[in-house]
Amino acid sequence: MSSDKDKDQCEVCVDQQATTIPSGGFGGIHQNCSRCGEFKLSGTASSIMRQGLGKDRRALLSGWVRNQHQLTDLTEQS
Ligand SMILES: [Zn+2]
Repeated sequence: MSSDKDKDQCEVCVDQQATTIPSGGFGGIHQNCSRCGEFKLSGTASSIMRQGLGKDRRALLSGWVRNQHQLTDLTEQS
C-alpha cells in the first residue's frame, strides 16, 4: 500500500484509492478515482455518503458518476 500513500479512499465507491485534487476555495472534495472517474463532492454530501449509503447504492452511484464521462459536480444540494 506504500505506493498509494498519496491517495485517499474514494468517497463514492469506498472501494478504490482515489487521487485527491487540491481545490482552493472549494469546501468539498475533488477526487479522481480509477473506478468512478473524476468528481467533486460537497462536504455535506460526503458526510451523508459516509454514513447513509449501503453497498448497492454506492455501486449505483459509482456507475453513474463514471458514466458522466466528464467532471461531475455533486455539490448543488445542501
Ligand atoms: Zn470510486
